[in-house]
Amino acid sequence: MEIQNTKIVAIVGRPNVGKSALFNRLAGKNIAIVHDRPGVTRDRLIASCRKAEPPFDIMDTGGIGETIEDDFNLQVKAEATLALDVADVILFVVDGFQGVTPVDLELAKTLRQSTKPLILVVNKMDSEKRKQHGSEFSKLGFKEIHETSAAHGHGITELIATVGKHLNSVPAKATRPPRTATAPPLKLAIIGRPNAGKSSLVNALIGDQRTIVSDIAGTTRDSIDIPYEHDGKAYTLIDTAGLRRKAKIHDAVETFSAQQATRSIKRADLCVLLVDASGMTMQDRKVAQIVVELQKPCIIVLNKFDLYHPGAKLKDRKEELLETARREFFFMPHAPMIPISAKEGQYLDKIFNAVERVHHGAQNPPGTGALNRILHKVIDTSPAALGRTGKSFNLLYASFIKEDNPAPIPVPHIVLFANRVDKLQDSFLRHLESVLRKTWPAEGIPMRWSIRGKG
Ligand code: GDP
Repeated sequence: MEIQNTKIVAIVGRPNVGKSALFNRLAGKNIAIVHDRPGVTRDRLIASCRKAEPPFDIMDTGGIGETIEDDFNLQVKAEATLALDVADVILFVVDGFQGVTPVDLELAKTLRQSTKPLILVVNKMDSEKRKQHGSEFSKLGFKEIHETSAAHGHGITELIATVGKHLNSVPAKATRPPRTATAPPLKLAIIGRPNAGKSSLVNALIGDQRTIVSDIAGTTRDSIDIPYEHDGKAYTLIDTAGLRRKAKIHDAVETFSAQQATRSIKRADLCVLLVDASGMTMQDRKVAQIVVELQKPCIIVLNKFDLYHPGAKLKDRKEELLETARREFFFMPHAPMIPISAKEGQYLDKIFNAVERVHHGAQNPPGTGALNRILHKVIDTSPAALGRTGKSFNLLYASFIKEDNPAPIPVPHIVLFANRVDKLQDSFLRHLESVLRKTWPAEGIPMRWSIRGKG
């Protein structure tokens, strides 16, 4: 399974400007056929260009525009939106022979709103005579203009070099470097219902440091941020129990505040949901539901493992507990589950192993090619899963939406492009997600899905 963060270069342009020819030139012999069912749309949407440094995926957005010919505006919009959402560099192709058309102007206007590198490719520049058109294209307002003849292979090497230059200057944050000791600490919210053992866990982790940290001012009145280091890595524990500690002496019956939990969860990069393994209740699920609603990465820590069938064999106890907890938290099947005992200080390391696994997994999603192979495998092997949407509905392409400022543990947002917008069956999305998770487990991370199409 290829795990990579390949950059994407999108080719955008109205029909017949030579997008396919350019696509084939850039791909050379490395065309990876992603979508090869004849008659659906076109046969290729993504290929890899390995001649470039760094290598990149080329995406021909024309594939989503071919089924509807009567509405250029919609087509233009859908293609541009797709490119703006997913690409690192956009090649806007125009026909050097025909000159600037109204559709070109419209497309240019949409694309220019982006901060992404845009290269205007004036194609079909096969002869000196045609080059006299060249200056006309400056009115489209692009700084970078390349002339090519995709049919004859002219200007391709230069274009690849320019694309490479842009890809190399994509800011470091977009390439998500591995976390180092100097990276900002991951913020872990320790959440759970009263008496789950939050205070005990925080105490067990920070031990004697408690007196030092108790003076640190909280950023909100509900929680205290505690700097914590484990295995050379920095974390911030968002301790929701800390502030209540003194009051607790007088007030044995605590109430659970959903607002308080919500605020801490919102601030967190990852939630450490603590539950009492010796008795899981509705209230535990209620906290978990907030995490699900806010779409936060999460691990479930099954505390008080020491009280769970203490007489039985360790392996059996563990298996049984995990089975019970999976049933209780069936709506979070991806969350790692870690049995611990805060009181005995047992297995605390495993919490941080899981946090690091989640972090690493989130930062290494599959490439666009692999994602699309999975999508089309699902469609081909279980077409019925698409459900009521019918034959005329086709899912064409899947891509991760690239965010400008991804969270330290980014929650993937996958957009499915279709020939028209239709409501997908939840069961189809669940099935697709479970197949995707077989190759990319994305432990502890929820997935967001959306669909785009034309109208
Ligand atoms: P909080 O309300 O979530 O902060 O929970 P506390 O940390 O105050 O713990 C509630 C009760 O559970 C206390 O009496 C703790 O001593 C007890 N407790 C916490 N963790 C464990 C554990 O791992 N094993 C056992 N046996 N008791 C625990």
